[in-house]
Amino acid sequence: MGIMKTTKKNYSRREFIKQNSLTGLGAVVAIGVTPSLFASDIKVAETPALLGGKAVRTKVWPTWPVWDTSTDEEQVIKVIRSGAWTRAGVVTEFEKKWAATVGAKRCLAVVNGTNALIASLNQLDIGAGDEVITHPYTFISTIICILQNGAIPVFVDTDPETFQIDADKIEARITPRTRAILPAHTLGMPADMEKIMQIAAKHNLIVVENACLSWLAEVNHKKVGTFGNAGCFSFQTSKNIPIGEGGAIVSDDEKFMDRCYSYHNYGNPYGSVVLPEGVHGGTVINGTKLRITEYQAAIGLAQLKRLEKQTNTRNENAQYLKSKIQDIPGIVPFKLSKNVTKISAWQFPFRYKMEAFQGLPRAKFIKALRAEGIPGSSGYVTQNDKPYLKNTFESKNYRRMYPKEMLDFEKYVERNHCPENNLLCEEAVWFSQNMLLGSRADMDDIVMAIEKVHKNAGKLKA
Ligand SMILES: *Cc1c(COP(=O)(O)O)cnc(C)c1O
Repeated sequence: MGIMKTTKKNYSRREFIKQNSLTGLGAVVAIGVTPSLFASDIKVAETPALLGGKAVRTKVWPTWPVWDTSTDEEQVIKVIRSGAWTRAGVVTEFEKKWAATVGAKRCLAVVNGTNALIASLNQLDIGAGDEVITHPYTFISTIICILQNGAIPVFVDTDPETFQIDADKIEARITPRTRAILPAHTLGMPADMEKIMQIAAKHNLIVVENACLSWLAEVNHKKVGTFGNAGCFSFQTSKNIPIGEGGAIVSDDEKFMDRCYSYHNYGNPYGSVVLPEGVHGGTVINGTKLRITEYQAAIGLAQLKRLEKQTNTRNENAQYLKSKIQDIPGIVPFKLSKNVTKISAWQFPFRYKMEAFQGLPRAKFIKALRAEGIPGSSGYVTQNDKPYLKNTFESKNYRRMYPKEMLDFEKYVERNHCPENNLLCEEAVWFSQNMLLGSRADMDDIVMAIEKVHKNAGKLKA
């Protein structure tokens, strides 16, 4: 075959497809190996936009959220005009659809992903005296759900190749206090769930999956969020199912889901959560209120209709982009954990090695890309050393629940040191999901801009 190879790494076709087959669209991937890398040398050599040159791109990116008035509004308007706004049939319909979509027996819609996590841990009886093993390369909700329940987060370092929790480092962090593992499927790429479930089974631990960014993602063709005791999702507007605010818990455990329902509705009786005999009326458990409205669910149903197609578009573009930029020196795109069969890219993350860009700092790299019309961000900051932990440990509740040594903040930070994660927080660059909804030509703009910044790194630094 006369495919010209301009890529520097030499790998077999089979390896290539394995590495890049995010959607099972191997054939599409192969097209990604075009010989065009560095082909537009002239444009790439032009003055960077940050230094007054012409930007690679001035076109706007696909906007977010997507809303089609002709197809999306009918049910929402019907709900608004009905006056039935509080939780009823439309919420139930959304829950049924989401449960069926991910392949779980039950789903409970709640106000947001953060509270889906808090409720799940609460109803799995995780609290005072318990340690929960988790991941620092994530959003704050992954950690505060543990603290809100009075437990202690224990951090396991990140695998910088996959951006996920390093499952090989989990067992070393298990103590007699460990009750649960809370992996986050970071940025919509699944964690190594098979390994995590093996460890949990061996040590008799609960698993709550933070699948807040993993709508439709799969490991071995099984949807993420359905491996553990509970899976939690977010539908906040920046997420790939945008509702404004919203979240969900999924599980096959009927009793657990009954308790979650009761908890989300003030602790009122529900299913197997019943009042003791002889008690008439009133609530059963210590609950709260996390109900979503009918119009939120109607928006959710409209968004669900386009999820699969959008997911496939993002994944195809992510594969293509990855195949194009992975050979630019200093650009190291994400790899996938074992047996991942589908991702749900919320961001396209890669590591930026400034050594290969003549020492151009990451912030300047992002600024230069932005000037070229390519918006990127520096992603997460570290979570395992921040003031909210100290503040929690100094609270009255924590001082009454734990021995003093456990709450020494400096020692806690030392015990929870995650060097790989610290480095990742300094090196990561993200492109957001709406960019991945663009065309191949849009992806080529990203490639071109990175090449241009690479070529001009010296000038940009000075
Ligand atoms: C968005 C998000 C959450 C929280 O979801 P909300 O709906 O905003 O409360 C939790 N974890 C991760 C990883 C998220 O990205």
